[in-house]
Amino acid sequence: MKPYTAKIEYDGMGSVIARQGDSGPRVMIDAHMDELGGMVRRITPDGFLSMQLLGGWLDQALVDQRWVILGSRGPVRAVTGIRDVHVVPADERGRVYARNTIFLDVGARDADEVRALGISPGDPVVPDAPFYVAGGGTRYVGKAWDDRIGLAVLLEAMRRTASGSHPNQLFYVATTQEEVGLRGAHTAAEVVRPDVGIALEGGVAGDVPGAHPEETQARLGAGPGLFLYDSSQLPNRKFVALVKDVAREKGIPLQLDLVQGYGDDSAEIQKAAGGVPTVNLVVPVRYTHAHNGVVDRADFDRMVDLLVAILQRLDAATVKDLRDFAPPAS
Ligand SMILES: [Zn+2]
Repeated sequence: MKPYTAKIEYDGMGSVIARQGDSGPRVMIDAHMDELGGMVRRITPDGFLSMQLLGGWLDQALVDQRWVILGSRGPVRAVTGIRDVHVVPADERGRVYARNTIFLDVGARDADEVRALGISPGDPVVPDAPFYVAGGGTRYVGKAWDDRIGLAVLLEAMRRTASGSHPNQLFYVATTQEEVGLRGAHTAAEVVRPDVGIALEGGVAGDVPGAHPEETQARLGAGPGLFLYDSSQLPNRKFVALVKDVAREKGIPLQLDLVQGYGDDSAEIQKAAGGVPTVNLVVPVRYTHAHNGVVDRADFDRMVDLLVAILQRLDAATVKDLRDFAPPAS
């Protein structure tokens, strides 16, 4: 963020708040920095670790994976064990193993060796899943697109608005602790006191075998998305109309979606400062809460174009209208 503004501050939860502009409506643009992971819970006498999961994991995503533990002496690599097929009874072979039976193996022989590696209870554990480019250069595979893709959109938009004019004050906010309850967005919104807010997120793609059309209908490469519903928030309807308008005007395809079992930072932003019109804009992601996600580069590029065009539109009169709930004069 530093190349694009000198005005960077932090809230008391570690969220980063970078501001461009000194006058006009206060626009909060949000993406979260935390990723799905866990923390070391207990160390067994024979040197295995149990894990407290953080964020929404499926039990079936946990076995036979690589992880990194951020210990006091630096990162330590680990794997989650898996039962050996040679000893698993036939009737257990199709079973998903519950999270509380999962353990981390750091290659230690006993608890003393674990401690010698600098590992203790409470240390963060994150997926280990290296990035690569697929699809002839168009698709990116990696971990934590939720919400690194949102952060990338935020940074690229920030780069563009640093050199152009905009009719507002832009607060680009990278929040903490979204995956455990939208906590950093809550505190950051208290600091920013926005007039309007935009969350940038990883969406949920449904273009894979076995997906049900009622769950999500987003497709990779078919454009950025706008959530009309998720279980944490309802977007402001005038703001939704504005996003659709801008997308149409700019010739950007827009995917509309409603997703259950999904929370996003706009839910906390909209409850701040007496109530704030918000939307949640998403770049579709396959396999969000897992080690290996997939995004399409074109969706990212169009999302940046869409976001910058929306920010240009959010002048004082437009924001005043978004915040106006009075019935039309008769
Ligand atoms: Zn997210």
